Amino acid sequence: MAAIDVRGLRKAYRDTEAVRGIDLSVDEGEVFALLGPNGAGKTTTVEILEGYRHADAGQVRVLGLDPRRDAGALRARIGIVLQSSGVEQYLTVRETLSMFSRYYERPRPVEELLELVGLREKATQRVRTLSGGQQRRLDLALGLVGDPELLFLDEPTTGFDPSARREAWQLVRDLTSLGTTVLLTTHYMEEADYLARRVAVMSAGRIVAEGRPDELANRAGSVRVRFDVPLGQEPPRGAELRGGHYEIVAEDVARTLHEVTTWALERGVSLQSLEVARPSLEDVYLELTSEAQATA
Ligand code: ATP
Repeated sequence: MAAIDVRGLRKAYRDTEAVRGIDLSVDEGEVFALLGPNGAGKTTTVEILEGYRHADAGQVRVLGLDPRRDAGALRARIGIVLQSSGVEQYLTVRETLSMFSRYYERPRPVEELLELVGLREKATQRVRTLSGGQQRRLDLALGLVGDPELLFLDEPTTGFDPSARREAWQLVRDLTSLGTTVLLTTHYMEEADYLARRVAVMSAGRIVAEGRPDELANRAGSVRVRFDVPLGQEPPRGAELRGGHYEIVAEDVARTLHEVTTWALERGVSLQSLEVARPSLEDVYLELTSEAQATA
């Protein structure tokens, strides 16, 4: 059985069509990432799945339940980690977790939660004295209090430093090894690539692509030829600066390489950093969302 199954989902706010008929299926135990630019309809979709918003049309099943009709039963089986959970700042970490535990029939033990999110040393510290990254770990622990079968993670690592991000990713992987299904929304393609078995890209209320991250990258096809040019040197025609390097999207790799190397030889430029790279998930994402917005 799918953990999430959505058919023909639609939702409009007055004259804004936020979600325009999407199908989505998330398998039990997988990490699924929902990607898309601001305003694409991700939050609306996720809030319908969580039972906080009602769809205008379509069928929605989450853990086999109807989030609208079976809201109570569903809440006991899902965990939600919002970008900011607004907990009481003057309670300690342990007190906060204990308090939330009382909402659940079978909560995960507080000590286990502290261990899981790496906050054991901070258990007696007041929430307001935690660093930003530590607060987010507490948010994550709060989403896990009820030992959920399905966890909704909304941009879980925004504001994390690189090592905290790696740790959070490891934590999500640990959770999935325990069988938890995760629906992740993120603006970090690297995060989706690292964590998700499958991703769906939303744009203007529609799903414009879906699949494994590497499949999507291959589907987009066009390879990139990347290189640096010396300071003050005009780059060859068609080259665009991206991520600190010049890049040409090559339909025909041999021809593009020939043009670039000819250009370099004629000018005596050494092209030490020349490389041919497959498109990344981010390249594909940018291509898909700009195409979809152009035709919206
Ligand atoms: P972000 O990445 O910025 O969080 P999103 O993909 O989650 O964006 P949504 O929040 O679902 O996008 O918004 C989709 C569209 O619906 C946007 O145009 C937004 O302005 C509109 N919208 C969302 N909530 C409401 C609301 N309560 N009332 C009216 N319009 C809304």
